[in-house]
Amino acid sequence: MTENGTAERYDAVVVGAGAAGLNAALVLGRARRRVAVVDAGQPRNAPAAHLQGFLSRDGMPPAALLAVGREEVARYGVDLIDGRVEHIEPAGPAELGHTVQLAGGPVLHARRVVVATGLRDGLPELPGLAERWGKDVLHCPYCHGWEVRDRPLGVLGTGPGSVDLALLLRQWSADVLLLAHTLEPTDAERERLAARGVRVVEGRIVRLVADGGRLRGVELANGAVVPREAVFVRPQMVPRDALLFGLDCARDDNGWVAVDRTGRTSVPGVWAVGNVVDPRAQVVVAAGMGAAAALDLDHDLVDEEIGRAVALCRASGVALSA
Ligand SMILES: Cc1cc2nc3c(=O)[nH]c(=O)nc-3n(C[C@H](O)[C@H](O)[C@H](O)COP(=O)(O)OP(=O)(O)OC[C@H]3O[C@@H](n4cnc5c(N)ncnc54)[C@H](O)[C@@H]3O)c2cc1C
Repeated sequence: MTENGTAERYDAVVVGAGAAGLNAALVLGRARRRVAVVDAGQPRNAPAAHLQGFLSRDGMPPAALLAVGREEVARYGVDLIDGRVEHIEPAGPAELGHTVQLAGGPVLHARRVVVATGLRDGLPELPGLAERWGKDVLHCPYCHGWEVRDRPLGVLGTGPGSVDLALLLRQWSADVLLLAHTLEPTDAERERLAARGVRVVEGRIVRLVADGGRLRGVELANGAVVPREAVFVRPQMVPRDALLFGLDCARDDNGWVAVDRTGRTSVPGVWAVGNVVDPRAQVVVAAGMGAAAALDLDHDLVDEEIGRAVALCRASGVALSA
């Protein structure tokens, strides 16, 4: 709030300071827009020690990337606000933008909004699994496959996608087991797994076994421990999209918020970027989505400003020829 009790006004409010939100803010700050970024401080890859696959940043700790990003946006006058946005609502007719309500009371006024709130990984409930997430319980071979190459690896059979994950992972190691757990692969899937050199181990898993800060294996219901140095799992990816649904943004056929190539949602003035709309977006892609949205959003503001200026000139009878 400003001193006279009105909401602080911004050209753009970005919700979420992961790679997607920060890159949007960086481009908008450099375009001399007044920008706020509100962040609740729970980036998805926080459990991982290193961030891989981002050109020029390969191997950097995820928190270090975000710290650099925050420093960079601050240089262009972007306001970084620690907090959680509770809801966003129209400030009136579309041209008035939106109000952004933070937990604990503060309200911001946004001519445009970028939602970059990421997603939550729903993990299978197995003792010993959650604490090893991002360390040696992994989900993405492109992010972490190299680091565990040639080691004894397992894929937990928890649902659709587990067979494909095992088939893919095989290119990083010759020793990949599909630990069937609750999955019953079809005959056709078993044939493909065998052809690819992936063995299926039947039996329910009861827990993951670790000692000395490292995964040692996976214990089955019959008491046997299958030695593995890392296991991969397909988490249930749940977008953090409550703010967007509160605004009635249209969904696609999979139930995710629908956006165009620049991240525009169906609601005028609202963009959504990164994992909140695309579970496959790695960090570099999420950052790119933020940059693309910022360009489109800035053009949208420019159009609005020109439209207003023209209307003002016409109303005051000023000749408009250049
Ligand atoms: C364990 C693990 C390891 C990974 N390793 C890699 C890797 O090596 N390389 C790679 O490219 N990708 C990796 N990824 C994927 C990577 O995490 C995503 O690509 C990236 O986080 C997407 O960025 P984002 O900005 O969309 O979301 P996030 O990074 O999740 O950022 C979203 C931010 O929004 C905030 N937020 C959410 N709701 C609100 C709200 N209501 N108000 C305010 N703030 C809010 C969150 O607290 C968070 O800080 C990994 C993922 C996991 C799970």
